Amino acid sequence: MRLLITGGCGFIGSAVIRHLIRATDHTVVNVDVMTYAASEDALEEALDSDRHTLVRADIADTAAMKAAFETHQPDAVMHLAAESHVDRSIDGPADFMRTNIMGTFSLLEAARAYYAGLTGERRANFRFHHVSTDEVFGALEANDPPFVETTPYDPRSPYSSSKAASDHLVRAWFHTYGLPAFVSNTTNNYGIWQFPEKLIPLVLLNALEGKPLPVYGDGSNQRDWLFVEDHAVALVKVLEQGVPGETYCIGARQPRSNLQVVHAICAELDRRLPDPEGPRSRLIRFVTDRPGHDFRYEIDPSLAEAAIGWTAEHDFERGLARTIDWYLSHRDWWEAIRGGRYTGQRLGTAA
Ligand code: NAD
Repeated sequence: MRLLITGGCGFIGSAVIRHLIRATDHTVVNVDVMTYAASEDALEEALDSDRHTLVRADIADTAAMKAAFETHQPDAVMHLAAESHVDRSIDGPADFMRTNIMGTFSLLEAARAYYAGLTGERRANFRFHHVSTDEVFGALEANDPPFVETTPYDPRSPYSSSKAASDHLVRAWFHTYGLPAFVSNTTNNYGIWQFPEKLIPLVLLNALEGKPLPVYGDGSNQRDWLFVEDHAVALVKVLEQGVPGETYCIGARQPRSNLQVVHAICAELDRRLPDPEGPRSRLIRFVTDRPGHDFRYEIDPSLAEAAIGWTAEHDFERGLARTIDWYLSHRDWWEAIRGGRYTGQRLGTAA
């Protein structure tokens, strides 16, 4: 298939494209406007593959999206482009509304116009896969059962409400216009090439540099952690096998409190590189909680696992060990980001 992937230079999109280039015969048109969160380096060998084309364009630009469909004639779309960091959405929600809601609207309109012109097998096989989050379901209490495909929406942050809005748009374009679309909602991802503003790389790199490790509230907030490469495999299976109108809840059954995550990172780092000043857990600092901080997210992935024939390969400990090894051997990349010198372009390329 020829796939149009949005946000393919981001954390999850780049993992999907690496997997597609390594393990399938599909070709990829990667539409990415290259925000601060984008990284060409994360594409690794895909960047030089003749099965990958990078198109720098904004999903909110309907004319540019229509042109991308017309030029590249995709067989399917996987839509990942988004503003994705909850803390940024609290400080400045406007970009989240623009990209996540209006950008999804514009992409849907371009897909609808393109789909209207398809005939025969190409029309029968066309798919639009929207990648979303479990945060749209709101917050669980300690003893609530995990989220499933039928859990009602109850988003609470600017980020999760913008993602919820985009999910509603995708379902409306399926019901109203017959666009063959489906949605996947996934738990927290972690792993290689994650921008170092998110919890796991932030704590890991601060610990390595002997800096304070900020933990919101008392650290009891709980997330369900999925290794990004496992997610990439699941997303491609959903794209290939998904049924229009369906929802796929993807998770790894690896719930951990934030404090457990931070202690696990400190212990793994101490084992690899003992700090003469003592265990790195001494750097933990409890900071004022995030406003509206959801207590717990967790997914029961049973239905999606059965539907697509997939389960996550990495438990949290194995995924974390791989993540730590990777950050220890990719200093150039994260030091350039933390030093404010990274442009998103491949390291060593003129800006
Ligand atoms: P990310 O922030 O790492 O990457 C987002 C990518 O989208 C970047 O490359 C950015 O340049 C691009 N982008 C942003 N605005 C754009 C625009 N207007 N036009 C074109 N490209 C644009 O995000 P991520 O963590 O890889 O998440 C990808 C998707 O998965 C998002 O939709 C997110 O909501 C969803 N998701 C993420 C997680 C997670 O834990 N990271 C979990 C579940 C779902």
